[in-house]
Amino acid sequence: MTKQPQELALLAEAGRLLASVFEMLDRTPLIGMSTLQIDEMVERFIVHDLQARPASKGQYGYGFVLNSSVNHVVCHGVPSPSDVLQDGDIVNLDITLEKNGYIADSSKTYLVGTVGPVGRKLVQTTYEALWMGIRAVRPGARLGDIGWAIERHAKRNGYSVVHEYCGHGIGREMHEEPQILHFGKPGTGLPFREGMVFTIEPMLNRGRRTVRTEDDGWTVVTRDGSLSAQFEHTVAVTATGVSVLTLRHDEQDMMSRMKIAA
Ligand code: MG
Repeated sequence: MTKQPQELALLAEAGRLLASVFEMLDRTPLIGMSTLQIDEMVERFIVHDLQARPASKGQYGYGFVLNSSVNHVVCHGVPSPSDVLQDGDIVNLDITLEKNGYIADSSKTYLVGTVGPVGRKLVQTTYEALWMGIRAVRPGARLGDIGWAIERHAKRNGYSVVHEYCGHGIGREMHEEPQILHFGKPGTGLPFREGMVFTIEPMLNRGRRTVRTEDDGWTVVTRDGSLSAQFEHTVAVTATGVSVLTLRHDEQDMMSRMKIAA
């Protein structure tokens, strides 16, 4: 379950490239684009600009390079030409990338145009919850510490955490052991060891935590129709703390702001 230094270097390279995909998206006005247009743009960027492989295409029979989850869609939204992003929407774009046999996984919820305070607060709180989960990672801490930190922050802000989907180990395969739950008890579960690589990807709902899958077999929505947001990073346990492999340029100061040991 732990990676060797050479594998960690390759995972870091995949993570750096995937971060650059989000930096490209950060520069793109998404309003008026269909989620299929975004998918096609991201595929061109990964394949032609980065000379890498979109890892989700073909995995489990999926036909796209990203999941696009708008508003009450929790995760696994499928790109579509009829899904045109409107002023005030929130949309999670979840992307995986493989380079030299190693995979990185990250997602970010974007604000489309002008989003009202209700949506902005959910998105901001979800981002904070991800970073509180990251902050719980260091050698000797345990898996339950991540989930506890995330769910505590969500509940303090009146949100619920989706339980059905979790983070995961990652490497040559997109989904490896262990599972990373976004709820839990501190001091319980597997202890972290240097060289473990996994994702943390909390989904927070404004309403109840229960979800259902739509008839297409992919799209997961909140049962009560409430807004849902998600953020995800791929992280590696270091000798003294944690390294965020998919860290973007705009997040360079997060480690120091959150007082996280590298
Ligand atoms: Mg993932």
